Amino acid sequence: MKHKIGIIGAGPAGIACAIQLRRFGLEPVIYEKAEVGGLLKNANFVENYLGFPFGISPAYLIEGFMNHLVRYEVDIRYQEVISVEYQEKKFLLKTRAEENFFDYLVIASGTRPRRLEAFDKQGKDKVFYEVFPLKKVKGKEIGIIGAGDAAFDYALTLASTNQVKIFNRTDQIKCLPLLFERCEKNANIKYFPEKVLKSLTDKEKYLSVEFTYHNERVEYLLDYIIFATGRDPQLGFLDGSLQKHFEKLKEEQRLYLIGDVKNELNRQVAIAAGDGIRVAMEINIKLSKA
Ligand SMILES: Cc1cc2nc3c(=O)[nH]c(=O)nc-3n(C[C@H](O)[C@H](O)[C@H](O)COP(=O)(O)OP(=O)(O)OC[C@H]3O[C@@H](n4cnc5c(N)ncnc54)[C@H](O)[C@@H]3O)c2cc1C
Repeated sequence: MKHKIGIIGAGPAGIACAIQLRRFGLEPVIYEKAEVGGLLKNANFVENYLGFPFGISPAYLIEGFMNHLVRYEVDIRYQEVISVEYQEKKFLLKTRAEENFFDYLVIASGTRPRRLEAFDKQGKDKVFYEVFPLKKVKGKEIGIIGAGDAAFDYALTLASTNQVKIFNRTDQIKCLPLLFERCEKNANIKYFPEKVLKSLTDKEKYLSVEFTYHNERVEYLLDYIIFATGRDPQLGFLDGSLQKHFEKLKEEQRLYLIGDVKNELNRQVAIAAGDGIRVAMEINIKLSKA
């Protein structure tokens, strides 16, 4: 009997796992709710992927991932997994279009932004959590809340066609020094430390954004605001029946988590891809002993 392997997510982790499984002659199925490449579509420029000494654009890398999936004839289904149950010693994956049982499950679902719901309501359709939806806008005033790599990376992406302001609630910067230096040198990017966000007011044509700065209120008028205030593992599809057996199934090597969904702060493409290849090799060894 053929063992069925399901993978949730077609970011670098899920793709690398599927391709390595195909190289062993196995036939995984990937479910992807959005697009191939995952979070990478939000990156400005990738400079730490081996083999590209002068960096590579995320779009080009994603195109390569896509070609790799096609070359290895990976079965990829563009459907959101809405729940995973554990029934009759198998994983039951449910999407809106199908239900499918699997013997092995690889979760490569990445992370989702930590939402600040009070501000979402205030700012309505001018509030974003990723840069991707704004990549094509021009001539706008855009605020970014955050002080990590994502905040400064988003600023560099937007600054070629917009004016960008980065607001940090403290004076501590948490991004790579090289990202900070590039933003400092860019005339279209301004950095504001010690600005604590108090409120957003949607004024139809623009967003009034209020901060406190050393006990004083300051207002900025912006077109959009992006929150780059952290991300959490994306695991909302796990049903209680699976959660009950979760640790045991991981120990038995039938359930795996790979990539950003489990890598906490070590969220990088090469680490995610490496996780995917390692787990494919572990599954192959397990199956060859079965
Ligand atoms: C601004 C920014 C810049 C970055 N720059 C770099 C860089 O220069 N170098 C670097 O190495 N890394 C960089 N990264 C990090 C890199 O993008 C991630 O580490 C990498 O994409 C993680 O891969 P992953 O496969 O684990 O998860 P993801 O890329 O997040 O992919 C997860 C996939 O799972 C899918 N999914 C989730 N839930 C479901 C579901 N229920 N059903 C179906 N599909 C689902 C998602 O749609 C997504 O496609 C950057 C990230 C950001 C945000």
